[in-house]
Amino acid sequence: MERTFEQILQGLAEALAGLETVRNRDYLRDLQLELAELGRRHAELVERAAALSRRVAELEEKTAAVDRLVEDEQGLWRPGDEDPGPYCPACWHDDRKLILLWSPSSGGPRACPRCGGRP
Ligand SMILES: [Zn+2]
Repeated sequence: MERTFEQILQGLAEALAGLETVRNRDYLRDLQLELAELGRRHAELVERAAALSRRVAELEEKTAAVDRLVEDEQGLWRPGDEDPGPYCPACWHDDRKLILLWSPSSGGPRACPRCGGRP
């Protein structure tokens, strides 16, 4: 039977109560504290692993989006995405950054708010 940390700690507490020698009681109390610390670290690692899994999923999604990039005279596009573009080709090719091109309110061609470039 696999026990939870809480069950193990409870079992140790019960064993401690029945011990007669001070030396064994101190020893088991130390083990109890170490086990509690291990449980805390385990919980942290589980949380960190979950955060890393979420990050991997995000990056896989971004990688899949990059695989779908299409370039034409207006810029880069991500077909099928919520915000398909166009994005700045210069920023993508130089720094792997997807920067959405803006249309100036005065009209005229779209420009990159980061590098100022136009496709
Ligand atoms: Zn740019």
